[in-house]
Amino acid sequence: MIQQLSRRLMYIVAESRSIKKLATKHGMKDSSGFARRFIAGETSEDAITAIKDLNGMGMSASLDLLGENVKTIEDTHKARDTILDLLALIKSNNVDSHISVKLTQLGLNIPDKGLKVCKDNMQAIVEAAEKNNVFVRIDMEGSGCTEKTLGVFRYLHKKYGESVGIVLQSYLYRTESDVREMNKIGAKVRLCKGAYLEPEIIAFQKKKMVDLNYDHCLELLMKDGNFPAVATHDNRLMDKAKEYAKKHDVSPEKFEFQMIYGIRRDVQRQIIKDGYRLRIYVPFGKEWFPYYTRRLGERIDNLTFILKSIYLETPDDKDTV
Ligand SMILES: Cc1cc2nc3c(=O)[nH]c(=O)nc-3n(C[C@H](O)[C@H](O)[C@H](O)COP(=O)(O)OP(=O)(O)OC[C@H]3O[C@@H](n4cnc5c(N)ncnc54)[C@H](O)[C@@H]3O)c2cc1C
Repeated sequence: MIQQLSRRLMYIVAESRSIKKLATKHGMKDSSGFARRFIAGETSEDAITAIKDLNGMGMSASLDLLGENVKTIEDTHKARDTILDLLALIKSNNVDSHISVKLTQLGLNIPDKGLKVCKDNMQAIVEAAEKNNVFVRIDMEGSGCTEKTLGVFRYLHKKYGESVGIVLQSYLYRTESDVREMNKIGAKVRLCKGAYLEPEIIAFQKKKMVDLNYDHCLELLMKDGNFPAVATHDNRLMDKAKEYAKKHDVSPEKFEFQMIYGIRRDVQRQIIKDGYRLRIYVPFGKEWFPYYTRRLGERIDNLTFILKSIYLETPDDKDTV
């Protein structure tokens, strides 16, 4: 209930131009800017520095150039070119990182030509990624994009196979059936709970039901999937992943945990200590505001963290926040 309210509040904030302007001015102004907690920086170089630190701690990364719902074809080409440069940087710096991409950044929602533009952009990205030996994960966005995103993924998967993977969200009723389909075609799936505000007609509203569906889909992925990525900060579900891996004879090299940059860093270190694979989702770029408000909406404590850092100028850096 509180989580739903906090998500709704953050959606209102995300729509506000004046708050965006204010936040963008102050959030990343220096290393103590409040947005630095969840965002690695505004440039590709900032992102590579963050990855080097994570790699040094035994963690892999997945880099995400922030930006979504791009409105013009020209802007989708700019995003594509930045991602292509990023792939070259990953290679030249010899860092251990995938990339994560959002299809609405590459044209998916542009009327008429959008789908074709998006597919062309993605082909250029996956081809370059293959050459550089970097895996591409397609993030899943709001439900208005689910079917179109899966359509583009199916097309790319047929053409490029295991170089590209997808994300499914346990809050959607349809996800069990999507998991079964992805298992059948041998697709690599990242399972998450889902970060958008969705209506009751298509999505579980109660956290308990979202968690139950996660648990169920997780077992299906461990049993029949291809290198499942368990994306959650929920200890109970992480324990379930270990339990299902044992039950279905999946060794720790055959799946990975994934967590978000800046969230539960104590747990992140423990996963590595326990001998499991961990990949950190590392967002960077100038368009950080919508992503950032989604992270805030997931936990009420994050809001108090921001208020403290703005008004008291003593950011609380507790690892569990
Ligand atoms: C690697 C990765 C990739 C993702 N990709 C996508 C995607 O493509 N599409 C999509 O819709 N969603 C994505 N998500 C977000 C996901 O759907 C959830 O919104 C988010 O992870 C919170 O759910 P949870 O599983 O951590 O569980 P929750 O039950 O929400 O949280 C469990 C515990 O984790 C901690 N926690 C969780 N979130 C936060 C936070 N923001 N700040 C501080 N502490 C927190 C808290 O201690 C909380 O009690 C991704 C998540 C991860 C980890």
